[in-house]
Amino acid sequence: MRKDSEIEKYGKSRRLKYRKFFRLIEKYDYIAVFRHVKPDFDAVGSQMGLYTYLRDNYPNKHIVYVGENSEDLMPQCVPEVKYVDDSFFKEHDVLAIAVDTSQKKRISDERYKLCKYLVKIDHHPEVDHYGRLQIVDEELSAAGELVANILLNHKGGLITRECAFYLYMAIAGDSNRFLYDSVTPHTFEVSIELLKKGIVLSDLYRRMYEEDLSSLNVTRYVLDNFKVTPNGVAYYILDKETLNKLGIKAKQGKNNINVFDHYKGIKIWCSFSEDVEEKVWRTSIRSAGLPIEKIALKYNGGGHAQASGAKPKNMKEVMELINELDEYAKGK
Ligand code: AMP
Repeated sequence: MRKDSEIEKYGKSRRLKYRKFFRLIEKYDYIAVFRHVKPDFDAVGSQMGLYTYLRDNYPNKHIVYVGENSEDLMPQCVPEVKYVDDSFFKEHDVLAIAVDTSQKKRISDERYKLCKYLVKIDHHPEVDHYGRLQIVDEELSAAGELVANILLNHKGGLITRECAFYLYMAIAGDSNRFLYDSVTPHTFEVSIELLKKGIVLSDLYRRMYEEDLSSLNVTRYVLDNFKVTPNGVAYYILDKETLNKLGIKAKQGKNNINVFDHYKGIKIWCSFSEDVEEKVWRTSIRSAGLPIEKIALKYNGGGHAQASGAKPKNMKEVMELINELDEYAKGK
């Protein structure tokens, strides 16, 4: 397998961890790949990329992937999650691998608690050191980039087109199609190796981003109703009545957030959607450069410098968050 310098260099500095990871894979006959709740492209892409690789390269092992289904991503981007009986976890020594999940409480499917050994593979700022083996690289743009690096450094392993598709999707998703500052030469070099496996980009992007024509009604609403604070924070708010009227769910509220990503004077942009079931306002925050994850963390959230999420509990907290972002953006 050809490896170029960035990929190899990165792998070399993490040689011991990668070796330990594959020793664990060799040791365990039962392996479950987890990811975070409310998955995004990176969560499902890195999960399915790793799952596919293990399935194809270790055909004698019992390997599963778990987590709640996502109507937005399944089945057009990744297959639906298959039922895995509790006996898988209760009757065997299982190796659990959680990808893209910064906090233990955000692992989708609590049965990781029944597993013998837990590995964390992640690229978020480290706030919860929960893995017995931790492979955490905050500087990478996506968990998919990290998983790809691990696999590209695994001598003799086969990366199929399917595996490459999922990992590329993970990287394209979390880097907003290679727009963020988290994208480095390493990101591109990994992506080149994945492209060489035969991914068709038009198919990949259509599967990721194609929407019903009716979603333009939501965009129209957002364009008619967004606000901008004095210091350049653009935001829109979708309360439960508006979500009902537009025919979308709270989790789809963030779909128009990137409408604001290229306008002079807009430094931060956010979406707020009322989630009646969870009694929170689902919040997505993006920034042109100012790191926003610390503010997100204060409102039951977290994430990355240029892309974070939060869950303020009520409208008062939503307004506090907007004011705090506005104050932060002042003079910057
Ligand atoms: P989103 O706005 O939902 O697309 O999320 C952007 C980034 O922030 C992703 O990397 C998420 O994993 C992370 N994130 C979103 N919500 C939360 C949360 N409540 N707590 C911690 N991280 C979050």
